[in-house]
Amino acid sequence: MDATIRPDVVIIGSGVGGGSVARQLAGSGAKVLILERGDFLPNEPENSDAEAVFVEARYRTLEEYQDESGRRYRPGQYYYVGGHTKFYGTAMFRFRESDFRAVAHEDGRSPAWPFSYGDLEPWYGEAERLFGVRGEAGHDPTEPPRADPYAHSAIPHEPVIARMAAELERQGLRPFHMPSAVDFGPGGRCRRCGTCDAFACRYGAKGDGEMRLIRPALKHPDITLWTKAQVMRLVAAPDGRIAAAEVMRDGEAVRVEASLFVLSAGAINSALVLLRSASEAYPEGLANRSGVVGRYLMNHHLTGLMGLLPFRVNDTKFPKTLSVNDFYHGLPEDAAARGNLQMLGNIQGPMIRAAYGWMPRPLANLLARHSVDWLCMSEDLPRAESRVRLLPGDRVEVAYHPGDRAAHDRFVRHVQRHLRKIFPAVLRHSFGIEGPSHQCGTVRMGEDPARSALDALCRAHDHRNLYVVDAAFFPSSAALNPALTVCAQALRVGAHLRDAWRAGAFAA
Ligand SMILES: Cc1cc2nc3c(=O)[nH]c(=O)nc-3n(C[C@H](O)[C@H](O)[C@H](O)COP(=O)(O)OP(=O)(O)OC[C@H]3O[C@@H](n4cnc5c(N)ncnc54)[C@H](O)[C@@H]3O)c2cc1C
Repeated sequence: MDATIRPDVVIIGSGVGGGSVARQLAGSGAKVLILERGDFLPNEPENSDAEAVFVEARYRTLEEYQDESGRRYRPGQYYYVGGHTKFYGTAMFRFRESDFRAVAHEDGRSPAWPFSYGDLEPWYGEAERLFGVRGEAGHDPTEPPRADPYAHSAIPHEPVIARMAAELERQGLRPFHMPSAVDFGPGGRCRRCGTCDAFACRYGAKGDGEMRLIRPALKHPDITLWTKAQVMRLVAAPDGRIAAAEVMRDGEAVRVEASLFVLSAGAINSALVLLRSASEAYPEGLANRSGVVGRYLMNHHLTGLMGLLPFRVNDTKFPKTLSVNDFYHGLPEDAAARGNLQMLGNIQGPMIRAAYGWMPRPLANLLARHSVDWLCMSEDLPRAESRVRLLPGDRVEVAYHPGDRAAHDRFVRHVQRHLRKIFPAVLRHSFGIEGPSHQCGTVRMGEDPARSALDALCRAHDHRNLYVVDAAFFPSSAALNPALTVCAQALRVGAHLRDAWRAGAFAA
């Protein structure tokens, strides 16, 4: 090691999880160092160029993962300050009350969380305020109770989306305005550029982890951010406490010692850091007495549907204003087939060609211009055999065996039947684990240390000064977008850490 640094608290990763904890610790008196393997995302024309983002994969990691057959691929992982929210679609949903309870599914059981929706409700409110979420309470039929209305009104539908809402209402459904973290409206930064979901925002209008969490936290003198600083391993002391992080900072090896470690590297990478930290005392990796680390990987069943409008160009700039939850708890005659329906961001020709390389450019562009694009999302069951593993030579294997595929398929076919009443043709595309956009579950919380790695406040059962605070903590995936739930729980954990720090709980 070339150098040793000693802050009070180390946060590994600057995504929603890490950024929310950093915001809570700002002003606590603790000196906090955030270690982020990526850099600030450059603001450049390519941010909103679909050819650069999808065909050239300009912002994606250069790493390779492999599946169980040994097939290698470049995963859709993005390493920047703010984490995956730099590219996210801004849908900011609360999970439903039932998502925190055990739920029976066709292929198994979705486990209960170690706390209830009510415990998280105040933190959901805080998360919405921090991210500037715009929404309209009272219209989503599955909406959980909330103490306060949204602080900002919902983003209005553009004409094509308003027509979709009217058509679905005519079919007896209850579409509602999707909650979204975009700084839209008079005085807002959104310029309606047409590229949002899966693109980085050039105007700072997207409520992402960099704009809403990291930049405000860095205004505080006790918060420091190192970019291009990848944590390779954590080192445990003989008493089980985490003593240090071994970091590669811009090609230089640095040892960072601290009293408290918050691992927020994202679900796949947090598991990898813990597995890579195996030692004689911890042969299966850190926080892994239960053997769950890396297992129970979930990503949602995600199916895109393109409704074709042969005689009309869809000129919508921001389509993600509409969602349908009528089927969240099951279809009328098939309770196991369930999920959320929401608009996808605008599909562009290069996105189609990135997935279907054989398709001629003019055809892909034509389909993109003449389609209205939807996303069907169902819960993905946690399964021990869905796992991230380290292979010899530090190769990463991602094995993925989601449960409930058949039930998701029936849900999608039901949605297609509704959409065929609006469109003459509906095309279908499945998103796989190669783009692990909703990755979660790999360092699960639970009450039983024999079956979980973390307690209800994300503290490692095995190491009292290690917390894992990112989507890795999810015991189940629900069927809604994860970022607001990561933020809410991270704010809750961060408040606990702030109080504990002030009470001297982490003194060596
Ligand atoms: C295209 C796309 C669209 C999405 N749309 C939505 C949406 O509309 N709504 C929604 O709720 N969710 C959406 N998501 C998912 C959402 O972005 C994630 O659930 C959320 O950002 C996860 O936050 P996190 O803190 O768990 O991890 P991450 O965002 O992955 O943050 C982890 C951070 O740690 C850093 N890191 C990793 N390894 C190391 C290491 N070893 N050392 C140091 N730093 C490290 C990473 O660079 C990253 O900055 C979308 C995701 C994608 C990719």
